[in-house]
Amino acid sequence: MTAQLNSEQVIRRLYQITHDHKKGFEAQIVELIQMGLERFGLDIGILSKIENNNYFVNHCVTPEDVPMKPGDRFDFDATYCSITCSAKAPVAIEHVGNDKRFAFHPAYKAFGLESYIGVPIHFKDELYGTLNFSSPTPFSRQFRDSDIDALQLMASWIEVELIRREQETELKNLNNKLKYQANYDSLTNIPNRRGMHRKLLKGMNHLNRMGGECTLAIVDIDHFKKLNDAYGHPKGDEALVIIANGINDSLRDYEFVARLGGEEFMIWLPDTNAKGSSIVFKRVMKTISEISIIPDPITVSIGAAYYKFNDSKQINLTELIDNMMGKADKALYDAKQQGRNRFKHSEE
Ligand code: GH3
Ligand code: MG
Ligand code: MG
Repeated sequence: MTAQLNSEQVIRRLYQITHDHKKGFEAQIVELIQMGLERFGLDIGILSKIENNNYFVNHCVTPEDVPMKPGDRFDFDATYCSITCSAKAPVAIEHVGNDKRFAFHPAYKAFGLESYIGVPIHFKDELYGTLNFSSPTPFSRQFRDSDIDALQLMASWIEVELIRREQETELKNLNNKLKYQANYDSLTNIPNRRGMHRKLLKGMNHLNRMGGECTLAIVDIDHFKKLNDAYGHPKGDEALVIIANGINDSLRDYEFVARLGGEEFMIWLPDTNAKGSSIVFKRVMKTISEISIIPDPITVSIGAAYYKFNDSKQINLTELIDNMMGKADKALYDAKQQGRNRFKHSEE
């Protein structure tokens, strides 16, 4: 048995391990178990998770001849930890075979471990598992209060870390949700104005470097106010969702549709000229004309603007977006003027 660590050494090591966040929780736990084994001069160290009557090995450090690994499962009743958990407190046994209380415990029969020290771990006021150390040989001395203190110190850090990690995950999920909400329209789940701008800048940047071409179009539902008036606002919302999905399904992977607001959408078509975009617009209009949530047909008007990048020219992309939007809007106005249910290309 190697020289055991004293309390001061334990505290110093614990401080080092727990401050080394860079290594990550998994590595920290293994180091912590390793330190526990050195502290007690024992052989097998385990952080367990207990679910129903199952005892799962979450992390362990064992001698080579003990073939245990994370994920292993045992019957909870057949572990010394079931004693620890019913005691709701640390349990330390120096020589199980000599202990009248435990010599007939199924865990002794199953594994023959003579010495054991373990403590329950709690997470959100409930039993999570245990931190325990054991050995097939009896303990060389009596367990002392300082041993229990060291064990509880390690367990406390694990408990705090479990909570911290859960909060970190919750915070990450919340941040992702906020990021999504900032860039996507909550009704239709397609990009909103802000998300559209980000995606357009990215797409245009690429085309700018390649000297490519693109078409940007604005789609506006015809007489949408009448639809709302005749069938109610909720039906209007339903139509917006179906139309957004319909446009989305009519596009290729690298194209996208965004909701500009109200009943207006923007379609981005990279590498597409007037001829190519006309095909897309016809497809979009056909898809929308087939929507049957109301008895009347739904139609849209579309205004489009085209741009060809010139790779020798410095360009302000935000200005270009505004400019193309203006032209598409003007073409849309013309399409409405000429009777709706049609698409127009900007003539500029
Ligand atoms: P036009 O053919 O000239 O485009 O006629 P229109 O009735 O579609 O155009 P207008 O701009 O006058 O009206 C748009 C309507 O869209 C007004 C508004 O009630 C409705 N609208 C805007 N946003 C929403 C929404 O989120 N849900 C629903 N249900 N209706 C909306
Ligand atoms: Mg409108
Ligand atoms: Mg409209």
